[in-house]
Amino acid sequence: MERHDLPAARIPKRWYNVLPDLPRAPDDFLDPRTREPVGTEYMERLLPKALVAQETSPERWIAIPEEVRAAYRLWRPTPLYRALALERHLDTPAEIYFKYEGASPSGSHKLNSALAQAYYAKLEGHERLVTDTGAGQWGSALSMACSLFGIKALVYMVRASYETKPYRRHFMETFGQEVLPSPGPHTEFGRTLLKEAPDHPGSEATAVSEALETVRLNDGDRFSMGAFAGHVLLHQTVVGLETREQLEELGKQPDFLVASVGCGSNMGGFAFPFVGDKLDGRDLTILAAEPAACPTLTSGTYRYDFADASGLGPMARTYTLGHGFVPPPIHSGGLRYHGAAPLVGLARHEGIIDSRAYAQKAVFEAGTLFARLHGLLPAPESAHAIRAAMDLAVECREQRRRAVIVFCYSGHGLLDLGAYGSYTAGEMADTEPYEAALAAGDPALAAPAGR
Ligand SMILES: *Cc1c(COP(=O)(O)O)cnc(C)c1O
Repeated sequence: MERHDLPAARIPKRWYNVLPDLPRAPDDFLDPRTREPVGTEYMERLLPKALVAQETSPERWIAIPEEVRAAYRLWRPTPLYRALALERHLDTPAEIYFKYEGASPSGSHKLNSALAQAYYAKLEGHERLVTDTGAGQWGSALSMACSLFGIKALVYMVRASYETKPYRRHFMETFGQEVLPSPGPHTEFGRTLLKEAPDHPGSEATAVSEALETVRLNDGDRFSMGAFAGHVLLHQTVVGLETREQLEELGKQPDFLVASVGCGSNMGGFAFPFVGDKLDGRDLTILAAEPAACPTLTSGTYRYDFADASGLGPMARTYTLGHGFVPPPIHSGGLRYHGAAPLVGLARHEGIIDSRAYAQKAVFEAGTLFARLHGLLPAPESAHAIRAAMDLAVECREQRRRAVIVFCYSGHGLLDLGAYGSYTAGEMADTEPYEAALAAGDPALAAPAGR
């Protein structure tokens, strides 16, 4: 196998804010009790002030604090690779590139925002950041970032992962942070859920609810989001800005940008720096790859809904499958979320982003093939992007099209070997696709909007 690394980028000095370039502004977050737009006071009780300001900033470029850039130097800039072996395997005239976020010390792109959030929280004198995590990637990133900046973290981890995938929990605990299962007995919301269903597997939405309840009760706490908010996508734009520079140095322009979408932070960070080109008329397809069991952008509706399961947190207008929906426990824990980040939902609604949904086995087939060809074992989430990029490359073969396909390799899969083990042993099943659950009348799916 030949060397396939490409020009190095420089670490950006500024994050790119897509807001001023979008066709319209996203709709306001609403207070769940009054249904009025949430005020600054409400937001500043929830988040560090600097992040609240970034959420609605009209500035296209926002300076990255020097301390955060210094921390980025741990692993940034990340490489852009060409997947030549995959191109040959698929016998496609398309060129396939990938931005490799798997070398981050926490294993995924998530550290890009975790470091920024821990920095601002410390700067503003907060004692602790409280957050939710699914499979543990976000919790791992935030735990490490808080440790580096000298502030405490409390992580509510989806119970299904807490119990069956302990390694990321051990990772967080090694950084000295506290991890609790969700639903759990530590909050009123958790206790209520457990009373109704003692085996409740939890979801990102239950963990968000418990984190919000905790923050509301403790003045020294602030809430930290791994993906949903605009400021998270802003921090993630270092991924797309570097990619842009690397492609420019090669003299290439992307025809397809592909990323997995759980909530949309790697997609937003990877693709938003190219949105201006698309709105200026360049033929560019931005494709979200989702799990068939939780196809938020593919099958959801664009409307106001709660970001959390309890319906206590702010409401946002975006694509959603309904906040009462508990996605089946697929192996891509990071994609098990009922709603998309409002900015990604808006981009989808405006026709800027397309999406496709994939069944679990087809995803692991792609991830396994990629590992064998390239020696890199992708996170199951990233394997969704690989699946989508492979399908596009095959379509290019049929159309004899020399397209440039670039996907975001959002993280490595070295803590997901249980899932790969079940796939290689032939024991993996495809979970029921969302549409089938809907047709079967899953009561969680029938919950009326806005309750
Ligand atoms: C969390 C995660 C995702 C999905 O989250 P987004 O907010 O949609 O980016 C994708 N890949 C990896 C490796 C993750 O950890």
